[in-house]
Amino acid sequence: MKLRLLFHEYYLEGPQSLDVPERINAREFALQTWEHNWHCIERRGKDDSGKETRTGCGKSGKSFQPLKECPNCGSGEVKSTSWIRHVGYRSRDELLAGLANSAPQSVYHSAAFYGVPIAAHMHEKEWQGAELVFDIDADHLDLKCANDHDAWRCNNVDCHKTGTGTAPETCPVCGNSSFSTRKWICDKCLNAARKYTKKLYDDFLVGDFGFDPKKIQLNYSGHRGYHVRVRDPQIYSLDSNARVEIVHYVMGLGFKSDRVIVTEHGVDLIPSRDVPGWTGRVADAMIEFIQDIDSYPGTEKWVPALKNHRAAAVDGLKRTRPVLSKNVKGVGVKSWQEIAEKAVERYGSEIDRPVTHDIHRVIRLIGSLNGKTGFVASSLTRDNLDDFDPFSESIAFNQGTMKVIFHKGSNVPSFKIGSEVYGPYTKEETVELPMAAAVFVLCKGVASIE
Ligand SMILES: [Zn+2]
Ligand SMILES: [Zn+2]
Ligand SMILES: [Zn+2]
Repeated sequence: MKLRLLFHEYYLEGPQSLDVPERINAREFALQTWEHNWHCIERRGKDDSGKETRTGCGKSGKSFQPLKECPNCGSGEVKSTSWIRHVGYRSRDELLAGLANSAPQSVYHSAAFYGVPIAAHMHEKEWQGAELVFDIDADHLDLKCANDHDAWRCNNVDCHKTGTGTAPETCPVCGNSSFSTRKWICDKCLNAARKYTKKLYDDFLVGDFGFDPKKIQLNYSGHRGYHVRVRDPQIYSLDSNARVEIVHYVMGLGFKSDRVIVTEHGVDLIPSRDVPGWTGRVADAMIEFIQDIDSYPGTEKWVPALKNHRAAAVDGLKRTRPVLSKNVKGVGVKSWQEIAEKAVERYGSEIDRPVTHDIHRVIRLIGSLNGKTGFVASSLTRDNLDDFDPFSESIAFNQGTMKVIFHKGSNVPSFKIGSEVYGPYTKEETVELPMAAAVFVLCKGVASIE
């Protein structure tokens, strides 16, 4: 309730940074509320002897926790959701008033334009096109720092096994496949997401596709990644298949290295950088791959050769007219082709594919608050992306302090807000924190207000 009040005050002040998407009256908005709306399903029937049976009570209500059983009758058939979909606003003022009124923990809008955005079914909405959107999130990057700061717990009440890093597919103790997870953020996650965002923007959207930078909108998600939206009417009508092709292109899927690395007159050749598209990018992708060869898990025969002759291989590729160094002993054209394929696979931007290809998807409103952190989903330009520090530049609440109690067993890793580092907090303890840090741990669900 405290968080809802803080979010209410944020929207009440009418933040200048709040984005009003073009043709706002043609967008579907979706709100994620702090409370879960639950409904107990009522079923009446007759058993074999003809006696009336009844399960569930049909009651509805609100709860701050997701419910597993009905608080009224105890039935296990309870539907619960914290989403409100198919919301519409006609102007910035209406949007701000709506957000101040409901103070949701997160707010999204459709990348699509609709004739009837508030219709409850997709076929009634009258789809009229959609922006091209990309989500680059640390969740999809498989980063080592997850082992330092992410944690999971088996949801089986008789087990409750805990571990660090990303949750396994099945619990190693009981075999259950349902887990509670806690995802954290650090500079490493965000720098990795930023690296791929820059590649997407510079190499693919502006470089290869030639989009006008003025029509590309960038923002920090408020949590573990970045969003990119191409707001160019030329691509609004692309269907889902066309968007999938764009995703595949950006990820380098289907790249055939035997078409670009060839032998002529006994010399293995690699294309020069000025050839457009992936062909001209192969040398740079290979440089990145070879420099980082120690982290490559494969066991191909060229792996030790590259490790031994790393400098020679990289020097050759760095030349104005790149060459495949003859000093990398035992690596022939076939091996170079394999290396190129692996390099392209790694170089391509890791983007959350369904976000881009689903033409009905909703995406976080720029300038709104992210309920997982209390940070602002800040708008960015390409120029300020390089030096952007989410832990200081996306802070919404910087007045005063708040006393919070860290929950027993939540094992909170250290985190940075502004220039301060807080934690780790490994036991049940009361701490007075600056407002932004307090809001962060409340949003993360690892502490309560004293
Ligand atoms: Zn009930
Ligand atoms: Zn278990
Ligand atoms: Zn991290």
